Amino acid sequence: MKDSKIIWIKAKIRLSAVAILFAMLLGYSAQNNRSETVLEPTFYELSYHIDVKKELLSGSATITIKNNSEKSITEIPFLLYKLFEVTGVELSDVSIDYKQEVKPFDDWNKFRANAITIKLPNALDQKQSISIRVYYKGTLKGYEEAGLHYLKDNINPSFIILRPDCLTYPIIGAPNISSLRHINTQKFNYRVSIDVPKELHVVCGGKLVKQNTENESKLFLYESHEPDWRIDITIAKYKIYTSKGVTTYAFDEDLEKAKLVHKAMEDCMDLLTSWWGDVVIKDNFKLIQIPEGYGSQAGLNYILQTSAAFDDKRQLKEVYHEISHLWDVKNIEKFPSRWNEGLAMYSQFKVAEVLDKDIVEEDINKILVSLYDDTIVKEVAFKDYGYKNVTVYSYKVGLLFFWGLNELLGNDEFNALMKAFRVQYSNTGATAEDFIAYVKKNTLKSNIGQFIQDWYYTTDCCLNLNQYKTITDIVNKYKI
Ligand SMILES: [Zn+2]
Repeated sequence: MKDSKIIWIKAKIRLSAVAILFAMLLGYSAQNNRSETVLEPTFYELSYHIDVKKELLSGSATITIKNNSEKSITEIPFLLYKLFEVTGVELSDVSIDYKQEVKPFDDWNKFRANAITIKLPNALDQKQSISIRVYYKGTLKGYEEAGLHYLKDNINPSFIILRPDCLTYPIIGAPNISSLRHINTQKFNYRVSIDVPKELHVVCGGKLVKQNTENESKLFLYESHEPDWRIDITIAKYKIYTSKGVTTYAFDEDLEKAKLVHKAMEDCMDLLTSWWGDVVIKDNFKLIQIPEGYGSQAGLNYILQTSAAFDDKRQLKEVYHEISHLWDVKNIEKFPSRWNEGLAMYSQFKVAEVLDKDIVEEDINKILVSLYDDTIVKEVAFKDYGYKNVTVYSYKVGLLFFWGLNELLGNDEFNALMKAFRVQYSNTGATAEDFIAYVKKNTLKSNIGQFIQDWYYTTDCCLNLNQYKTITDIVNKYKI
């Protein structure tokens, strides 16, 4: 267990900007398939007051929960940050019973959380929803003692970050890793209101709908654009720079360097538009600076980037990855395979190759080699990653799939197919199967069918993966 954690943490740092803690949980979840249904949050309303001098957060979370399990529920388990104390729980403005205890996870004793159990006055039947308000307060001191060194989160005037990795809002689950295994497939809308000292600026992945200054404090109100699986909030004395669909929030001393990253983001948007057509941007994409060592992460339409990334061109790939998601066709699979992550991995390397003249094949070949001894890729085909709950493989195998497909089709045909596919499915959304069928129907290249058979429908691609040293070796096998 311990070793697998380390492997996943390293893999995610290299590969993408998804939350490292949750990436680790997903790695664990690779052992589980998806037969079990769960309680799912459909809406969060967070209302916080931050007292910087006292290093204190206080407020409430109102969570709408749907019972997707196969039985009626009388108790709801939540996890909250270990130094946050629950001071009350309400249902329709009436107090209800709860208990709380700070305890280690059953299967990870270095990780402690406040385990809360809320007792419902009446059973919540299948498919029914309920809204519960949880009041809490406390301070933040990160999770470095659990080995999660990027979680240095605390409350101080220079920088504050509130993110689910630190359980800063109540997350449905019991104190063990397996109870959190569905976390990245649960999508909810949210509203966040926070008041802070007036010299600070609150940034959140959602859309800023209100900003009010009153005496010495400033209130920010954000709302999600569309359902997401996480809420990230940062607070600092940000310098804000906006142009061409991108807003950058940088620390004063790094603003000039941040503008260079900002320019790279604009160039990436222009390039992807030239390849795959226009994209509707509901709100500016946000580049949000966080201090060194806090771990770059990303959500829908934003990226939290550490200062080091501003100096290191290679790290622009993470930014390209996130921007490319703006071109995603909505995934309507019942068990999402997250095939768009494979496409985003492809995009980050392809954009870096074009814009930065990066030699990317070396990195792609390392990813290929990292799969040599992996048993899951030999047992589960790409088409089943969603159903088998191993969507973390959509990043690596998906990258090889899309890179190979591009090489076999050629840039022009690949981009033309992507563009036409987006036009056809932009209103309805699509499944990976729709994409595969579209490519097969609209290309005249006869070798594509076998490639798709080996790389999407079956595990034939991965049974003897170590016969390939490079991605070029793979592509050559299918070249006629
Ligand atoms: Zn992604």
